[in-house]
Amino acid sequence: MPDLSLVVIGAGPYGLAVAAHARHTGIETLVLGEPMSFWRRHMPRGMLLRSGVDWHLDAAEVHTMERYLAERGIRPADVHPIPVELFVDYATWFQDVEGIQVRPELVTAVRPRPDGVEVELGDAGSLSARSVVAAPGISSFAAAPWHLVAGLSADRYAHTCFLTEFDRTRDARTLIVGGRQSAYEWAALLADQGVEAVHVVHRHDTPAFTPSDWSFVDALIERTESVPGWYRSLPDDERAAVDRRFWAEGRLKLEPWLPPRLPESVVHRHPRTEVVRCVELPSGEIRAELSTGETLVVDHVVLATGYRADVTAVPYLADVPGLATANGFPVLDEHMQTSVPGLFVTGFAATHDFGPFFGFVRGCTAAARLIVPAVAARTATAPTADAVRG
Ligand SMILES: Cc1cc2nc3c(=O)[nH]c(=O)nc-3n(C[C@H](O)[C@H](O)[C@H](O)COP(=O)(O)OP(=O)(O)OC[C@H]3O[C@@H](n4cnc5c(N)ncnc54)[C@H](O)[C@@H]3O)c2cc1C
Repeated sequence: MPDLSLVVIGAGPYGLAVAAHARHTGIETLVLGEPMSFWRRHMPRGMLLRSGVDWHLDAAEVHTMERYLAERGIRPADVHPIPVELFVDYATWFQDVEGIQVRPELVTAVRPRPDGVEVELGDAGSLSARSVVAAPGISSFAAAPWHLVAGLSADRYAHTCFLTEFDRTRDARTLIVGGRQSAYEWAALLADQGVEAVHVVHRHDTPAFTPSDWSFVDALIERTESVPGWYRSLPDDERAAVDRRFWAEGRLKLEPWLPPRLPESVVHRHPRTEVVRCVELPSGEIRAELSTGETLVVDHVVLATGYRADVTAVPYLADVPGLATANGFPVLDEHMQTSVPGLFVTGFAATHDFGPFFGFVRGCTAAARLIVPAVAARTATAPTADAVRG
């Protein structure tokens, strides 16, 4: 018999949401991971969220962010946009009021076993569970034109995911490659620090700094929950239309609170421009050649170039026997269960089959409601029923 009914790997929004809902359903649950580590260590202090107070973690709709604020006498309008620290505090409160047990241990591998899934903890041994939910987030998926920085010393460039302290970039000149929200938000954060110059270089036009309207997402999430396999069984053109709408709100629009923090004397925008080459000079400066023929001399390069799923880049999912993937995503059933019986994957890694909303907190509650019934069914059935599916 496995040691536990459910192990959740990851204590970010998705892991916490699934764990809370599982506990409500009476499933004995252990969460492994460092609570909200991505938000604490891969988002800079002072970063502001794009999502509002209505995006929360509770599938039971009780311990919402609005409730958390109300208990503190904070009006939602006074915390818009939401500082990242406040959301981390909400998640910490949620973990606490839900009584979610988290062990801050690193999983090194998972593998199928006849009655469930084995979870390896490196030197700390291993444990087994009837079901395992992996909520790895995006930290393993940082994507960048690495060839641009291949010749630079390692301390001269960073993906935004790894640049959360601005001590070294203060009083310096920085080139930011990319032009979506994180590119301009990092530019604003650098400008706030009093840097000498920031150059934001991107292939597309300067996006519109205008509020995004996420209200259309609610209906799509409802459909995801009520119609099994809804998103992936859409005709190609309809699925593309959903993706386009999401792209238009999230990528073509940037937050209207950014421009006042982007003084033209410091933040130089280079739309419709590509960085062709970066070379480290004997002086230690970096010469960046642009497609316009212009040359910039900077001290640091920041790659604000987003994330691309590759489930094998998640260390503990890199080598799972029988785990089927397509285009870097795990192949999932209607309950986000992989081809390995009892192993579920959620969050960004589920966006291929479930839609782009699962890359954001908005999808947490739906993910919990989709996954937990299948976990409950497995918990209730005889462990011998499993066989690795092809
Ligand atoms: C700059 C930026 C801004 C964003 N702003 C927003 C926003 O405003 N609103 C929004 O909804 N979303 C936003 N997002 C997306 C947000 O990060 C994701 O929605 C969210 O973090 C996904 O949660 P998760 O639980 O899937 O993963 P994560 O939050 O990344 O959690 C992963 C968990 O896995 C754990 N873990 C990792 N490796 C192991 C291991 N080997 N063993 C055990 N545990 C492990 C970590 O400790 C962590 O607890 C933003 C992302 C970025 C990069």
